Amino acid sequence: MEYSDDIQLHKRFDLSGHRAFVTGSARGIGRAIAIGLAEYGAQVIVHGVKESEKLSSALESVRKLSPSSFAVTGDLGDAAAPAKIAEQIKAHCELPDIFIANASIQFRTPWNEIPLEESLAQMQVNFHSTLLLSQLFYPVMKAQKWGRIVTIGSVQEFRPHPQMAVYAASKSAQENFVRNVARQVAAEGITVNNIAPGVFATDRNDAALSNPVYAKQVTDCIPSHTYAEPADAAGTALLLCSEAGKYITGTNIVIDGGLRLPG
Ligand code: NAP
Repeated sequence: MEYSDDIQLHKRFDLSGHRAFVTGSARGIGRAIAIGLAEYGAQVIVHGVKESEKLSSALESVRKLSPSSFAVTGDLGDAAAPAKIAEQIKAHCELPDIFIANASIQFRTPWNEIPLEESLAQMQVNFHSTLLLSQLFYPVMKAQKWGRIVTIGSVQEFRPHPQMAVYAASKSAQENFVRNVARQVAAEGITVNNIAPGVFATDRNDAALSNPVYAKQVTDCIPSHTYAEPADAAGTALLLCSEAGKYITGTNIVIDGGLRLPG
């Protein structure tokens, strides 16, 4: 078999003409992914629970790279939010062909004390919103014969934290969903993958990691002995969203400095 050596790898990462929706992109990992996809030419739809300075700031950074980008809002704890978000998007452009399910919530509670409402809330934001938004965006992806769904899971799929049993379960549910759907839509030019971050220095970890004793316990468990920064997830997201990653589907890429590895 003969193939050209002129593979022009940079063109395979070009996302021009694509529309990327990143939930929870007002801050943290979602913000870094949104900025990364904008840098590579996608029109990016940033998202937060509601209007905020952080959402405006994220949009400003994204628009410097991709001027047609815009923001939408909605609390994904509300089962009606995905449809309302889709309506907000349709006021600006066609529904996205790149969907990054990044937003999540987590509660730290011993497993035998978790109230039902806390469990249902985490499953709604972390799992059911991914299902509902994927269902809403699938027809456009199918019609285009091109689509990318990337869910953001957690290293807790492998190493669940004792006080986050439902959060870990929600991430494992999402990762199982990814493998199931990836198999079904592969022939339609749609890939579905999961990224599982380890410990990233983002707002949600501020309180826990500002305790130096706890912070040392955490870094001692990580083979690289360091936290990640949000941008450390952006390159993997870009790969999975691009032509360069078109043959990768149903997989789970862990970004954890080795945290999941047995010691
Ligand atoms: P973060 O800094 O806490 O930001 C969370 C984002 O999600 C915010 O933009 C927030 O919106 C949005 N969000 C929160 N609740 C929401 C809701 N009910 N409806 C809609 N949006 C909501 O998060 P992060 O640390 O970057 O984490 C991003 C993803 O990586 C999450 O899925 C998380 O589970 C996963 N992860 C993170 C780590 C870590 O160490 N940080 C580790 C493993 C996995 P507002 O800005 O409007 O509040």
